[in-house]
Amino acid sequence: MPFDYDDQNVFARILRGEIPNDTVAETEHSLAFNDIGPKAPTHILVIPKGPYVSHDHFAAQASDAEIADFARLTARVIAERNLSPGTGGEGYRVISNAGAHGVQEVAHYHVHILGGRPLGRMVESA
Ligand code: AMP
Repeated sequence: MPFDYDDQNVFARILRGEIPNDTVAETEHSLAFNDIGPKAPTHILVIPKGPYVSHDHFAAQASDAEIADFARLTARVIAERNLSPGTGGEGYRVISNAGAHGVQEVAHYHVHILGGRPLGRMVESA
């Protein structure tokens, strides 16, 4: 079953250089940039450069190189912001929203890295 990727989404436009972004770090296959509407003192988005819609799409169909690059860049950003509890940081949350129930606004796969304050519980009870 093919995934339906719309290349007019805002992150695709950022990747094509059509609109600016506040870049944090860039690698061969991935880009990290500050969220335009930060929900925490640190709110960074990490996206793959390839045309993937969601976490499951990326994890199922991206190459090993793309997946490794994305995971390593996410870890690098967390380390550079001193968020990792493993190295004395106060912790963080990585979130990826998908589809209608996940309330995904931008249909290009991304993770949010949030930190810099206590983040509360993950979701409300049903
Ligand atoms: P979601 O798709 O719900 O996981 O969230 C999309 C996120 O993208 C939101 O947190 C927005 O604030 C953020 N966003 C939308 N447009 C831009 C942009 N041009 N630059 C940076 N972040 C953006």
